[in-house]
Amino acid sequence: MSDSEQATSPVQGPHFVHEIIESELASGKVKGVVTRFPPEPNGYLHIGHAKSICLNFGTAKKYGGRCHLRFDDTNPTKEEQEFIDSIMEDIHWLGFDWGEYLFFASSYFEQLYQWAEQMIREGKAYVCDLTADEVREYRGTLTEPGRESPYRNRSVEENLDLFRRMRAGEFPDGSKTLRAKLDMASPNINMRDPAMYRIRRATHPRTGDKWCIYPMYDWAHGQSDAIEHITHSICTLEFENHRPLYNWFLDNITGIPSHPRQIEFARLNLTYTVMSKRILRRLVEEHFVEGWDDPRMPTIAGLRRRGFTPASIRAFCERIGLSKRESLVDVTLLENAVRDDLNANAPRAMAVLNPLKVVIENWEEGKVELFDAPFHPDKPEFGSRPVPFTRELFIERDDFMEVPEKKFFRLAPGREVRLRWAYFLKCERVVKDDQGNIVELRCTVDHATKGGSSPDGRKVKGTIHWVSATESIPAEVRLYDRLFREESPDSSNLEAALNPDSLKVVTARVEKGLADAKPGSHYQFERTGYFYADHVSSKPGAPVFNRVVPLRDTWAKVSAKS
Ligand code: ATP
Ligand code: MG
Repeated sequence: MSDSEQATSPVQGPHFVHEIIESELASGKVKGVVTRFPPEPNGYLHIGHAKSICLNFGTAKKYGGRCHLRFDDTNPTKEEQEFIDSIMEDIHWLGFDWGEYLFFASSYFEQLYQWAEQMIREGKAYVCDLTADEVREYRGTLTEPGRESPYRNRSVEENLDLFRRMRAGEFPDGSKTLRAKLDMASPNINMRDPAMYRIRRATHPRTGDKWCIYPMYDWAHGQSDAIEHITHSICTLEFENHRPLYNWFLDNITGIPSHPRQIEFARLNLTYTVMSKRILRRLVEEHFVEGWDDPRMPTIAGLRRRGFTPASIRAFCERIGLSKRESLVDVTLLENAVRDDLNANAPRAMAVLNPLKVVIENWEEGKVELFDAPFHPDKPEFGSRPVPFTRELFIERDDFMEVPEKKFFRLAPGREVRLRWAYFLKCERVVKDDQGNIVELRCTVDHATKGGSSPDGRKVKGTIHWVSATESIPAEVRLYDRLFREESPDSSNLEAALNPDSLKVVTARVEKGLADAKPGSHYQFERTGYFYADHVSSKPGAPVFNRVVPLRDTWAKVSAKS
């Protein structure tokens, strides 16, 4: 199946995680549902994480259980407080709450250490002196079994002594590991004596310099789940091959508090998007974007600044469903989700993004007529605002063609269009500068068409938006487009993969009332798209609008033209 075929068919099957839970609740295997969301605090959350958040928090909520937030902070060198703070803020913004259940894997370091000693005492773990390269060499391949480490048969006493000295800092970084004693011939490479601890001298944000040995993901994750009495540990497919190890550790620790069940699902991949935190970090650090919350980023913080709503992201996660098979979801599904939300909930306004001046020759200088325009076509409770009509107006440059193409039904010399809410407007003459650029249109209105319809039943084919030239204000508008050119961006060459036109800043003319647009509020600018008064740069009196999405999916057309 090609990418685009996959992209058009969202995976919407039965919810296999909920099915598992329901059968376990019915049989009494579990009494309630406890899930967790376990981010590593080494970057900002992205739209893929949103899928996991909606799944974990949403599932817990559905079954009256709870979802823990657990920072997987077992890797001390890459983690920062800024990321911890942003992750908490983003989860709250998405509409979820962990309540009092905030945890850090680093809180379990002592317990994990004690269990590791227990494993050694029971002959299930050993200290190995092979270097990283040697370990790789001994590991074997998918088709060949591995070889046993020469250190595998150390005595329990020697292992305990060495492991304690590893903790005490007697050995250099990387010189020894603690490994589970499993099966070097296992067809599952994860079962070939996986590492449990490595030596690394690094100051940890929470435990400082207390530790110089750190647990590996496989040793930390399941045990953290068990300590917190997680019932369902939901993770992405790449951990499917780790499940036997997850279970083996839990089965082999005497006194383990609980035995969670790991369930895997396919991670979210989106067209025109990269989601690896490593790449997102590069985009930020190498200044390809303005920060983690740049409105072009697929981060939750970026989507929020772009003007996506929490409800639209939740609806998107709901719509794409859950799958056991990797797929690529079309980013238009995400864009449509925000269109649906804002179409229903955003007030309308008129804004001219690329203004062309119109002078109405049969309208008195200084005369202002007010039209009453509802804020929403279907929601009278939104109220209305007065829209002033004057002798000089701005219309969109694209709504005029001096020599109209076939199928162009808007303004042209000698032609009539409807000005939204107001009058029929006819273009009489084009005014140009010395270089031949159109600077102004001289027009007339038909006074009998007040309100936008003609008493003689005369029809016009186009309706265009406009603002008064004298009763409007300028506003900065940021026209965002996709960050990447290709459906499946090649992140090995970021420079070439990025869309050079992903941001265009224009000075638009907008209705006066928008001067007071509340930072963080949404609008539909009629005929042009959905816009968001940027909560960072927009100020009362000096509004700045980000384009969330155009009205319809016109990206393809836009790029075909340019
Ligand atoms: P990345 O590979 O982008 O760095 P990660 O998986 O290392 O992501 P974590 O912070 O470890 O990032 O992820 C926290 C949780 O979010 C994990 O349970 C992970 O499975 C889930 N997750 C991460 N990316 C996606 C995705 N694209 N779709 C669904 N879930 C995801
Ligand atoms: Mg990870």
